[in-house]
Amino acid sequence: MIRVEHLSKRFGDLVVLADINVEIARGEVVSIIGPSGTGKSTFLRCLNLLDQPSGGAIWIDDEDILAPKANVAGVRQKMNMVFQQFNLFAHLSVLDNLTLAPVKLKRENKAAAEARAMDLLRLVGLGEKAYAFPDELSGGQKQRVAIARCLAMQPEVILFDEPTSALDPTMVSEVLSVIRRLAKEGMTMVIVTHEMDFARDVSNRVFYMDEGLIYEQGPPSQIFDNPQREKTSAFINRVRSYRAHIASPDFDLYALNAEIEAFCEKHIVPREARRNLMLLVEEVLQLHKPWLAGGALDLTVSYSEKNGELELDCECSGDAGNQLQPDEGEDGLEAMIINALCERIDYRLLHGRSRLEFLIKKD
Ligand code: ADP
Ligand code: MG
Repeated sequence: MIRVEHLSKRFGDLVVLADINVEIARGEVVSIIGPSGTGKSTFLRCLNLLDQPSGGAIWIDDEDILAPKANVAGVRQKMNMVFQQFNLFAHLSVLDNLTLAPVKLKRENKAAAEARAMDLLRLVGLGEKAYAFPDELSGGQKQRVAIARCLAMQPEVILFDEPTSALDPTMVSEVLSVIRRLAKEGMTMVIVTHEMDFARDVSNRVFYMDEGLIYEQGPPSQIFDNPQREKTSAFINRVRSYRAHIASPDFDLYALNAEIEAFCEKHIVPREARRNLMLLVEEVLQLHKPWLAGGALDLTVSYSEKNGELELDCECSGDAGNQLQPDEGEDGLEAMIINALCERIDYRLLHGRSRLEFLIKKD
């Protein structure tokens, strides 16, 4: 259905897309992943002619859409796009957002367009919001309206550009559920996303973009479990981490907690694991209070997106011993709480520094 050959795109001297060659069949769901700045958005924007490619060819159903006489409005209607920032018209009601393009561009009858718009709003769970305005909606609701608006043009392909990355983490799943449903109904979709679990279970194929190329492509099982090329593997297995150096018992606990929360938010750490981490940090700091009177601590939080493992490492600036072993006369209450929050705890002495490694429970 979509055929791309030697597609390239430059912005001045910057080569963003070097040489893209792909085919996408009707009914396929393709996810595109890759580091930021590798041209994922540019690729989608070239597909529906929001950016003019510098070279190469794109065919949609055997129509050369880069030909001078190509019907640009027709292409955009056939391949409609959903953006990260929703792009709803703020001054129009939800219903009018859905009917504007069908009535103005496709000259549809207004009553018929409204009836279909209502059906689409019900499909995305927002029948009740037809007469609301965008700023009365949550981010997740706005994005569902944007998807309904896209469907109102009866596209044959939907291009999604990071549809959940502007959302509060609590709203990601309502949007993903709507996209999953479209996938089940056989809609052809190209989805740029950083939601790895979602990409894995919704897609037929995954494209990993890097170096201006589709660097590797394959079924989700290959890309996520058995990537064939070095950069794909490095991207899939990357671990995100946050580090804090604590040098006195009077450190700013509120700022530390806020930074750890922000880290979890940014990397979409699941709620239960996040809660366990926050409690654990508090207990671990409590446990090391005596040590902090003279020494320092390095705390590292690491999160592996691939297997969802959340770890806290606590390294003392010297040999503090294993603080989890209660001293004579202590009740060991903190150690008990800590044990309950962790899947596994390892203690080691490395280069004269004692280090506790906590693998945090996910539920
Ligand atoms: P991604 O979506 O993978 O994060 P983008 O396609 O947004 O990447 O951008 C790829 C590169 O192209 C970036 O370096 C970006 O700064 C650059 N770029 C994107 N759009 C423009 C533009 N209109 N003018 C100049 N540079 C651009
Ligand atoms: Mg982008």
